Amino acid sequence: MTSLAVLVDGSACAWGAFAEAKREKPGMEKEVLTRAFRSIVTFSNVHLSLAQSNQLLLYAYGNGMSKKLLYDSVRSDNPDSSSCIIKGIRGALRENSTSGDARKCGVLAATLATAICQIRKAATLGTNKSEETISGQKGRIVIISLLPDFGSQHSLLMNLFFSAHKHDICIDVVSLGGSSALLQQAADITAGVFQVIHKIEDLPRILMTRCLPVSIRDSTSFTTVDYRAACVCHEKLVSNGWTCSVCLAVLCSFMAICPSCGAVFKITVPRRKRKRPTEVGAAPSPRP
Ligand SMILES: [Zn+2]
Ligand SMILES: [Zn+2]
Repeated sequence: MTSLAVLVDGSACAWGAFAEAKREKPGMEKEVLTRAFRSIVTFSNVHLSLAQSNQLLLYAYGNGMSKKLLYDSVRSDNPDSSSCIIKGIRGALRENSTSGDARKCGVLAATLATAICQIRKAATLGTNKSEETISGQKGRIVIISLLPDFGSQHSLLMNLFFSAHKHDICIDVVSLGGSSALLQQAADITAGVFQVIHKIEDLPRILMTRCLPVSIRDSTSFTTVDYRAACVCHEKLVSNGWTCSVCLAVLCSFMAICPSCGAVFKITVPRRKRKRPTEVGAAPSPRP
């Protein structure tokens, strides 16, 4: 059994901005969204059709969502996966739009952690071990992201990427909102693929050719990965910075109190040696 978790950005604001940017004519925003959702449905159905025992988990990540797992092919009673996926994504976006979430940062960590746990659970309970040994993977995660920035979740996500790598879970990223250094690192650490989509027409092609199981996918890798860390104080990528010796948080400049864990640091300035006052009337020491 191979589990695939598809994590879709659930920010209604971001999807709205994306549809407005990618529309051909004014008023065609709905077409863009329909195309994107259909591509996700087709990709999910291809995964389910590759083997009878394959599992599909569909998640949405974002603020104000009561239900993050939108569809589980193993537990669902409805045999029509397409309608369940479309209904799930639309419901998540509707819920997010009423929550007043207008963040410019993605909220991915909690959903990614849940997806890793579910894949691990399915791999442990799975009885068909032959497919697992052929592909060399216990599961895959495909992140369809819109917001390239993840704010203060940098260190949390990095830990999750290493955890996924340790458990042989590959993370593929399809970014609809431009390049993201953090998600590039996710793909590189877990031997996945990072791909930026410039045209909505490219989304189904990229999903079908780059995000399928490793044994049958197009394995052309991207060129360079930006491995700079983001500072916790300004959430900007830094080449040289300070690291907290307690929590390993990266800071772009010296701070007396770590903004992440509250540890207090002191600068030890070397003391100047005081000159001894010369005694009045003392004979000057002979010079050589
Ligand atoms: Zn900073
Ligand atoms: Zn700290």
